[in-house]
Amino acid sequence: MHFTGTIWRPPYEWDSLLLEVTAGCTHHRCKFCTLYDDLPFPFRMSPLEDIEADLREVQLFQTGPMERLTRQMQGLPQTEGPRRAFLVGANPFVLKADRLERIAEMIQTYFPGCKTVGCFARITDITGKTDDELARLARAGYDGITIGVESGDGDALAFMDKGYAPEDIIAQTRRLDGAGIGYHFFYLAGIAGAGKGRESARRSAEIFNQTHPRRVGSSMLTVFPESRLYQEIQAGNWREAGEKEKLEEVRTLVERLDIPVIFAALGASNAVNMEGRLPEGREKLLSALDEVIAQYSEADLRRYREQLPHL
Ligand code: SF4
Repeated sequence: MHFTGTIWRPPYEWDSLLLEVTAGCTHHRCKFCTLYDDLPFPFRMSPLEDIEADLREVQLFQTGPMERLTRQMQGLPQTEGPRRAFLVGANPFVLKADRLERIAEMIQTYFPGCKTVGCFARITDITGKTDDELARLARAGYDGITIGVESGDGDALAFMDKGYAPEDIIAQTRRLDGAGIGYHFFYLAGIAGAGKGRESARRSAEIFNQTHPRRVGSSMLTVFPESRLYQEIQAGNWREAGEKEKLEEVRTLVERLDIPVIFAALGASNAVNMEGRLPEGREKLLSALDEVIAQYSEADLRRYREQLPHL
């Protein structure tokens, strides 16, 4: 398989066929981000021949004669291959609609049972497509794309150089709604800086409440020395929020979201993992957060963050 550098995928894509169609990020400017720093280039599009070779390899491995025989001998049901594909890279949705359609067609050729395709996307990747192109992509199977919006707080987005404003989140996700492409959000607690967490969560909830994500996945900021954000801290331009403040921020977000949505704080950046459906699971989530806030000291939580190798 043509995998380049560390491969990142959302937790809920664990069962999807991971297919590299891009490597790296076209933006590469968010101050906190070091995710694709291990690549020798900022962004690269995979050649179609490499994508096809990977599909052939997976087909042989998952549905080829040897696999069929092994399954038969073990009394296991035969598989028609993956039901969903997740395109790898920071923002494959930036690719032109024609290329994304071509990739979906190739996936379908090798795996006719693969009905939907997901990937990471930036808000600006949607801006670059017409409504007609989005509708074509929905017909091609694109659905459940994951957008790392990080926040709905304009000041935080601007300082971190995310490259879009809160209003863009509303406008562009409306276009996805219109086209019938479902989406998930990633939220990043802590990017407003010390003393601003709760207000930032309130502002974010106000924006998210005007959108229709299927889930909001919350991660917590970890500052790495290689990041531009670390330099801002050294220069005295920004102060990192404490761990309890970040938890209070997440609590405020859970409290204020009034859309039906799955809220999840999964993955290593969260000292404690939780997931629930809003609004019905709100009280449970809030009491779980209250428990963590009461049970752990700032020093405990800080120790946890300091030993994180990445994210
Ligand atoms: S956070 Fe996402 S969009 Fe920003 S630089 Fe990192 S990968 Fe690119």
